[in-house]
Amino acid sequence: MRALVKSRSAPGLWLEEVEKPVPGPEDVLIRVNKVAICGTDMHIYNWDAWAQKTVPVPLVVGHEYIGIVEEIGDQVTSASPGDRVSGEGHIMCGMCRNCRAGRGHLCRDTRGVGVNRPGAFADYVCIPAKNAYLVPDQISDEIGALLDPLGNAVHTALSFDLAGEDVLITGAGPIGLMATAVARHVGARHIVVTDVNDDRLALARQLGASRGVRADSSSIEEVMRELDMKEGFDVGLEVSGNGSALSDQVRHIIHGGKIALLGLFPRDPEVSLNDAIFKGVTLKGIYGREMFETWHKMIAMLTSGLDVERVITHRLDFEEFETGFTALNNSEACKVILELVD
Ligand code: NAD
Ligand code: ZN
Repeated sequence: MRALVKSRSAPGLWLEEVEKPVPGPEDVLIRVNKVAICGTDMHIYNWDAWAQKTVPVPLVVGHEYIGIVEEIGDQVTSASPGDRVSGEGHIMCGMCRNCRAGRGHLCRDTRGVGVNRPGAFADYVCIPAKNAYLVPDQISDEIGALLDPLGNAVHTALSFDLAGEDVLITGAGPIGLMATAVARHVGARHIVVTDVNDDRLALARQLGASRGVRADSSSIEEVMRELDMKEGFDVGLEVSGNGSALSDQVRHIIHGGKIALLGLFPRDPEVSLNDAIFKGVTLKGIYGREMFETWHKMIAMLTSGLDVERVITHRLDFEEFETGFTALNNSEACKVILELVD
């Protein structure tokens, strides 16, 4: 089968012929229709320090996808050939304290599809059947390929009650943009989104932001005054991975406010924790998706009007992957879909 492989310890990915995976007794084999490129794939493509210490070589990469179950292991009862599924990319250990308590997203030993084990940028991917998630017919293949990052956005946005609240979202990457749409969908009042990229701020407004603010040159205070906000944002979603954005969050959050942290900082950010302490702020780290409550809620919202399609800026054939990676490296793309099957 065709696969995008990290086949040597250097920048890039290579389209190669590799062995089709064989499902174990509890696995499903999925024929992949469409995939999407994630920031994690960019780290692996660019072969930065994190990727070099995390990813074994050679490895088939990729973890955002939709496809059709082609074969099931002989112990599998939860899926059948022909099912259209996406997959939860965190394979939990099943035996640690949190796994056994039903909190798989807090597993201490989680393994990542396309990061620690073979991924989905290929004609076929094999995952445990319990990680496959049936996608209803109303949801397109393109959106189905985005359920993993949409799940990150949903997990972050639904961490705190947003109904009637004022929300500050720092970072208008794919996850921040989708979190904006979710915040609007669930009834937030003002949603202010910051970024340093004008195209992305324009997209944020299309996805439901009240205001898009340049983090590097505009004043959040001024926008708050325009919106007649006096005391600060009720909830903050930090989805940029930039330290100064976290400072913006702490500075503009209301006393007793809540901040969900999903963005990964390349190095530890400098932020005044004393401000957070004096304000009585709740900080919550977010990793992945809740299994499988986040999946349930995102499917429910997608089938009741949540629309995130505008984050897709590029649709390419699988073999044109270099074009997609280059557009992302040049900040010309937001979400790139690669098609394996029409
Ligand atoms: P992205 O890099 O496309 O988006 C980040 C955005 O933040 C960019 O648009 C960038 O211009 C913007 N930005 C940079 N500096 C800023 C500043 N000072 N203020 C406001 N915005 C600023 O990434 P993404 O795919 O949307 O992911 C968002 C973050 O979440 C990344 O850090 C990623 O590594 C992380 N992530 C975490 C998890 C998790 O499970 N915790 C999962 C997926 C992604
Ligand atoms: Zn575990």
